[in-house]
Amino acid sequence: MVEDTKSKDFIRQIVEADLAAGKHQSVITRFPPEPNGYMHIGHAKAFSIDFGVAADYRGVCHLRFDDTNPEREEAEYTEAIQEDIRWFGFDWGEHLYYASDYYQQFYEYAVELVKAGKAYVDDLSADQMREYRGTPTSPGKDSPHRERSIDENLELLERMKRGEFEDGTRVLRAKIDMAHPNLNMRDPTLYRIKRASHHRTGDEWCIYPMYDFAHPISDAIEKVSHSLCSLEFEDHRPLYDWLLDNISIGCHPRQIEFARLELTYTVLSKRKLLKLVEGGHVVGWDDPRMPTLSGLRRRGYTPQAIRDFCERIGIAKANSTVDVALLEHCLREDLNKRSLRVMGVLKPLKVVIENYPVDKVEEIECGNNPEDPSAGTRRVPFSRELYIEQDDFREEPPPKYFRLSPGREVRLKHAYYITCKEVKKNTAGEITEIICSYDSESKGGDTSDGRRVKGTLHWVSASHAVDASVRLCDRLFRVEKPDDVEEGQDFISNLNAESLTLLEGCKLEPALAEAGPGERFQFLRQGYFCVDTDSTREKLVFNRTVALRDSWAKLEKKAK
Ligand code: ATP
Ligand code: MG
Repeated sequence: MVEDTKSKDFIRQIVEADLAAGKHQSVITRFPPEPNGYMHIGHAKAFSIDFGVAADYRGVCHLRFDDTNPEREEAEYTEAIQEDIRWFGFDWGEHLYYASDYYQQFYEYAVELVKAGKAYVDDLSADQMREYRGTPTSPGKDSPHRERSIDENLELLERMKRGEFEDGTRVLRAKIDMAHPNLNMRDPTLYRIKRASHHRTGDEWCIYPMYDFAHPISDAIEKVSHSLCSLEFEDHRPLYDWLLDNISIGCHPRQIEFARLELTYTVLSKRKLLKLVEGGHVVGWDDPRMPTLSGLRRRGYTPQAIRDFCERIGIAKANSTVDVALLEHCLREDLNKRSLRVMGVLKPLKVVIENYPVDKVEEIECGNNPEDPSAGTRRVPFSRELYIEQDDFREEPPPKYFRLSPGREVRLKHAYYITCKEVKKNTAGEITEIICSYDSESKGGDTSDGRRVKGTLHWVSASHAVDASVRLCDRLFRVEKPDDVEEGQDFISNLNAESLTLLEGCKLEPALAEAGPGERFQFLRQGYFCVDTDSTREKLVFNRTVALRDSWAKLEKKAK
C-alpha cells in the first residue's frame, strides 16, 4: 500500500478500492508502446504511471509491444524503447510481450464474434463506409451487408485470411449500433486486409487486427487488472468494454484514462518527431534538442530529474500544457546535487599577470561540490597566462557591471585578486589580451586588509587548458505552442533557427581531458554540461544541458 502521508492520485485511489473490495488479488498493469518511433517524455509520464502504480502495490507491469500495424514498425525501435525504459530504472522482468504473438487468438475471438452474430464481413469501400458512418450529430446507416448470414460471414472471413481478396476490398466489423452517439460504436472495423510483411510474423498473415480490437484482448490475455492510458482513449472505452463483454475470454481489465503530457516549446508526437528526423531538421532521434528520452539523455538529463518532474505534475483527468521551465527547474535541482564543479571558459580571452613569475605553476585546491562535502577537492593549475570569459571583460563597463574592466579589481575563483592594468589590441582594434597584476597576499580569495571586490570570475591556465567544442542547445521551437501556425504552414515553420550554437576552441581545466561520454559537470557560472557521444580523447565535445540562470544576461536583454 502507498503510505498515507503521500497524497494519492485518482488512479491509486481506484486501484486501492478495487483491491480492498477483493476485485483483484494483485495489480497487473502494462505499458503498450507501438514500436514506430522513439520514446518521448510523454511516454515517460505514461510508463512512470504504469510501472509506478504496479510497484506501489507489489504488482507487476508488463512491457507489451503493440505491434499490430505491420507497415510502420521496425525492430530498431523495439531495442531503443527497452533501453529508454531501463535507463529510467524500470524493470518488466520476464514480462515482455508482443501483441503480434496473439494473432492466432485474435483471429479465434473474431470467429467467435461472427458465430454469435456479433460481427460481419462488409464489402463497402472506405469512402462508402465513411459516408454510411454518419456524423456526431446525425446517425449512420446500416451497410447493405450487415445482415449476411453467420455461415456466409464465417466463410468470407476465412477467405479473407487465406488471401483470396484484394487489399482493402473487405473488412470485418463489429455489429453494434449504427446510430450510437459514440462514433467508435458504429460497427467499428476489427480486421482489414493488408499484404505487408510484419517484423515478427513476416508474411504469415494478410489480415491484421485494428488497435481497438487487439488492445482489450491483449490486456485480457495477460490478465491485466488496470489498463492505464491517456485521455484520447476515453471515447474508445465503451468499445473496449463491449468487446470483452462479448467474447469468452473471462477477464475484464479496467481501463482508466489520465491526461496526456503537453509541454510548451515542444512537440510530443512520434509522427512529428519522425518528420524532424526525416527532414534533417535534427541529427537524429537522439539529437540533444529532441524531447525523446534518448535525446534528453544525450543532452545530460538524468532519469531522476524527469521522474521528479513527472511526480510534480501529478496525474490529472484533464489535459493541460506544462511549462517547460518546470522541467528545466527539476533538472537544475538534480544536477546541482550531483555535478562536480569545474572551470571551463567558453569564449576565451587571454589574461597575462605581469607580476606573476614566468615559470611558476601553483596547484590551487578547489572544492568539487559545495552541496556535497563528500565530493572532496581537486587541484587546478594556476600560472601567469590564463583565459577568462570574453563576457567577463568590458573596456567601458555599463552600470552594475561588476566584472573586469580597466583599473578594476576582481577575484579569480579559488585563486587571487587581479587588477586590470592594460588592454592590448590588434591593428583591427580587437582586444587580444588583458594585462593584469595580482595581489600575492590574496590567495584563496581573501585579502589581508579585508577589502572587498564584487566580481568573481572563473578561469583556466592557458598552457594547461584542454580544448573542447561545446554545443549550446536552446529550445527547438521559438514559440510556446509550435502547433499554432498560419494557414498552409505546419509546426516546422516554428522551428527556432538558433536552437544550436557550436562553440569551438573552448578552454577547460586539464582534468576534463579524461572525461568520457555521459559524464556531467557544472561549469562554474555557466551551467550544466555533459560529454556528448561524439566526444573522443582527440576531440572533446560537450553539450550544455541547461544554463544556470544568468541574472546579468537578463538585465542586459531588458536594457536593449
Ligand atoms: P504519439 O502520439 O507520440 O505517436 P502514441 O500514443 O501514438 O504517441 P504509443 O506508442 O501508442 O504512442 O504510446 C504508448 C502509450 O504512451 C500509450 O498508452 C499512450 O497513452 C501513452 N502516451 C503517448 N503520448 C503520451 C503523452 N504525451 N502523455 C502521456 N502519455 C502518452
Ligand atoms: Mg498510439
